[in-house]
Amino acid sequence: RSLSSKPRLAIVGSGPAGMFACNGLLRKSNFAIDVFEYSPVPFGLVRYGVAPDHQEVKNVINTFDNMFEKNRDRLKLFCNVNIGRDITFDELTRGYDAVLLAYGSYKTRKLNVPGSDSKNVISGSEFVGWYNGVPNATTPDLSTSNVVIVGNGNVALDCARVLSTASSGSLRISDIPDDRLSILEKATVKDIKILGRRGPEHVSFTIKELREQFKINEWDSKLELSEEDQKNLIESLPKLERKKRRLTEVLVKNIGVASGQRQCHFLFHRVPKRVIADSNGIVREITVENIENEKVETFACGLLIYSIGYETLVLDGVPQNQNKMIDMKDHCRVNMDISCPANVYATGWCAHGPRGVIVDTQQQSIFVADQIASDFAHNRKRIAPGIELILKERKIPFISWDAWKLIDQQERDKGKLTGKIREKFTTFEKFLSK
Ligand code: FAD
Repeated sequence: RSLSSKPRLAIVGSGPAGMFACNGLLRKSNFAIDVFEYSPVPFGLVRYGVAPDHQEVKNVINTFDNMFEKNRDRLKLFCNVNIGRDITFDELTRGYDAVLLAYGSYKTRKLNVPGSDSKNVISGSEFVGWYNGVPNATTPDLSTSNVVIVGNGNVALDCARVLSTASSGSLRISDIPDDRLSILEKATVKDIKILGRRGPEHVSFTIKELREQFKINEWDSKLELSEEDQKNLIESLPKLERKKRRLTEVLVKNIGVASGQRQCHFLFHRVPKRVIADSNGIVREITVENIENEKVETFACGLLIYSIGYETLVLDGVPQNQNKMIDMKDHCRVNMDISCPANVYATGWCAHGPRGVIVDTQQQSIFVADQIASDFAHNRKRIAPGIELILKERKIPFISWDAWKLIDQQERDKGKLTGKIREKFTTFEKFLSK
């Protein structure tokens, strides 16, 4: 079949949600698919979110690699293209039979307390992005003894773990860019406080990440709980379902008071009230309220990382519901006006909020692929303007699959010289020169 007889699908975002749906659709339908990605390189949080010591998770990229290589006749990648700025959503709906939104949830919720605009107060995604090599990211100052991390999810644990393990040299073989790794290795952090606004029963950690923190040599990591919290947590154990019980058992096992040269304290019921900066505007202390006993506490803090959730943005032209999320008709179809020429679908974090690990995203996306394939079982096809032509006319310097493979190979070759998985490019100029 020639390309022109195939229905055409645009996917916005090349993270796991878009790529798993793409994989399913290539198997189950005859769609020709164009993937648009805002970053200069593909795969979303797999490259720029997942921690560098979790390379086994990043291996999912191999599946996506094979998918692109095997389907060169009907799958194209356009990186460095921002849908909403370079190409509008309306243009996509005019240019394709179907549009799948899979653009994630990348806007961090801000810590809104006085002083939170001080220097070295950064979001978890900024810190994670920095150590993962996001191009042109701001470098945090790690020459401090005291770090406070606000948030009780895996991002908080990833930040704490990377800060606690770098000095041992164990991250040297990972894919943290050399210049950023040397800053991490020289960090002088000795005390990390992880603050939760609610009690320990409400943490959103997963067991693997939690265990990893307690296993780090040279660091004493402890849950510092009030007597009441201890009692409640222990008593809750028999009533919990298996997954939650196993997590809670790890929490209970690690109740205590952190001591020694390097300490990580898990503290609960702490609500940030104020950030205090020194005369250079750099964070020096954080004041929190312990809502269990209404006491106000002040912690020394030279780096404050907050990870209190993401906000989902809705692209211009995409309908929005009362919760400021994409307005969905059902689990995967977007509630578009009847006049919209394309079928519009959404999956992953942009559709259902920033929750869950890659396997959860994968399951949703396989389901979405099935729905799209069945909606197009009768092969609808419109004559539509080519978006590639528009990109060229607008002189948008997009990065294709072949250009990415060149970058990929160069990063891997450079990494090999020092025994690393890859040495990432960290400036836009480097990507665009390919
Ligand atoms: P994303 O991965 O965010 O992909 C969305 C893509 O859309 C991005 O590439 C983005 O650049 C692109 N995009 C955004 N806007 C536009 C636009 N306007 N135009 C074009 N493209 C656009 N899960 C695990 O299983 N294991 C882990 O160890 C793990 N670690 C994590 C660590 C962190 C710090 C975070 C934040 C998440 C982690 N997760 C982990 C969860 C996992 O990353 C998510 O489940 C998954 O990435 C969500 O997939 P997604 O495709 O919806 O979003």
